[in-house]
Amino acid sequence: MMYLETTTPTMSNAEILARPIRLLIDGAWVEGSDEAIDVHDPSTGQVINTFHGASQNDVDRAVRAARRALDGKWASMTPSVRARMLWRLADALEERLDEFALLETLNTGKPLRLTRNFEIPQAIDILRYNAGWATKLNGETRDVSLPGEWHTYTMRRPLGVAGLIVPWNNPLIMAVAKLAPALAAGCAVVLKPAELTPVTAARLGELVCDLGFPPGVVNIVPGLGSVTGEAIATHPLVDKISFTGSTAVGQHLQRTTAASLKRLSLELGGKSPVLIFADADLDRAIESAALSIFNNSGQVCAAGSRLYVQSSVADRVIEGIAERAKALPLGGGLEEGSMMGPLISARQRERVLGYIEQGREQGVDVAAGGSAPDRPGFFVQPTVLTGATSEMSVVTEEIFGPVLVTQTFEASDDLDAIVGRANDSVYGLSSYVWTRDLARAHRIARRLAAGNVRVNTYSGMDPNMPFGGFKASGYGKENGREGVEAYTDLTSVAMYIGG
Ligand code: NAP
Ligand code: MG
Repeated sequence: MMYLETTTPTMSNAEILARPIRLLIDGAWVEGSDEAIDVHDPSTGQVINTFHGASQNDVDRAVRAARRALDGKWASMTPSVRARMLWRLADALEERLDEFALLETLNTGKPLRLTRNFEIPQAIDILRYNAGWATKLNGETRDVSLPGEWHTYTMRRPLGVAGLIVPWNNPLIMAVAKLAPALAAGCAVVLKPAELTPVTAARLGELVCDLGFPPGVVNIVPGLGSVTGEAIATHPLVDKISFTGSTAVGQHLQRTTAASLKRLSLELGGKSPVLIFADADLDRAIESAALSIFNNSGQVCAAGSRLYVQSSVADRVIEGIAERAKALPLGGGLEEGSMMGPLISARQRERVLGYIEQGREQGVDVAAGGSAPDRPGFFVQPTVLTGATSEMSVVTEEIFGPVLVTQTFEASDDLDAIVGRANDSVYGLSSYVWTRDLARAHRIARRLAAGNVRVNTYSGMDPNMPFGGFKASGYGKENGREGVEAYTDLTSVAMYIGG
């Protein structure tokens, strides 16, 4: 990953954080009418802001405003105007890159270099990419075999009001990855950031207001999942829910949206396998395997969390990753040299430590890390576990922290057996393969039960690459043409014209 030069934001941190977090409903900023929610800096555990969440009534007003915008001014704006507005939103975000990076860092504890040089720029890219789609969505003419002459075609239209529910691990990227395609497609949106990370979404709302989007096109309603999220998911005037988060809440949403038959797309968790063969470029494989699980403190749905390495190189690979884990500088988001921040909350830290403890009880060995460092904030050491077996909870369950479980396979194992172990999971989000044997790489890619396969890399995320999972990792794609089309529907028109 390449990092740009980091510049210092012009406002003081205190000034930036002191601004209140409110709800954006129908183009106006209002105080939430649900309970007060504290926002923490996970690097210290200290409260940095407090806001009132959106109540069911607030959500109702937001949804109705979105509906009115759809039936009014927004519908009459041409695709090229929508494209221009998204592009201008990207420009405005770029102008305030330093401020957004700082806010994201203070609210999540991620290293500033990560938010400044990767996350906020990625959000900007996603906006620009989707701006381009606004003018490229069409129906098409179809040829039919009915008797006589026909003029037949499909029309593509916005799905309507989209409820966007996002988690806390990449707050702005997640928000924009839903908002941008929804707006490009001509939908109006009600966005709920996670209660833990409302800050950058609220500031994005300020940009939206400054740029003159018609009132009600973008509504932003931070609040509790059980109140605000629930109200969006059950509202009869919401046409689609796009959700990223846990499998448990995804399943819950499938049940709660069933009554209204809302469209639903679910980007859920994962337990993604990394297969390293002895012929791979091992230096790169080691480096990437470490990045894949320790980046963002392992709070990544696609994190490579289950390592399967060929036994002849297992010592070298596992020791290499463990050495990197031990050498990784942990620190608060603004701490000089920090390469890995804390987890998002005390609750997540306890959850992750609980899994490590279970692993120990089940007999795994700890090659690196394994506990929380003695310092304030919600930190967990980057951890490498060895000697795991397939039925252990550290292997079967998503930990969502910096914890890698390693296992080995033999050169004599057949390909289907190796892939079978990779596929032996309720999840099916991402998979990583390291080998120099091209045929083997492609044969494995065909067999992996995962929505995303990466060969000789741990990244490969791009706004033009569809991203999404199979099985308990959910369904529906984000990014690419598929990601925008997910916010549209087709009407087919058949006209008899004689003969
Ligand atoms: P979560 O509960 O699924 O939260 C995701 C989003 O859904 C948040 O905005 C949340 O709001 C909202 N939500 C919660 N309950 C809801 C409901 N009944 N109706 C509508 N929306 C609701 O995830 P979490 O508790 O923050 O994290 C728990 C685990 O989920 C993690 O350990 C990890 O395994 C997984 N996870 C996966 C991803 C991913 O990228 N796929 C991201 C985050 C977490 P609140 O935040 O206000 O509760
Ligand atoms: Mg939750």
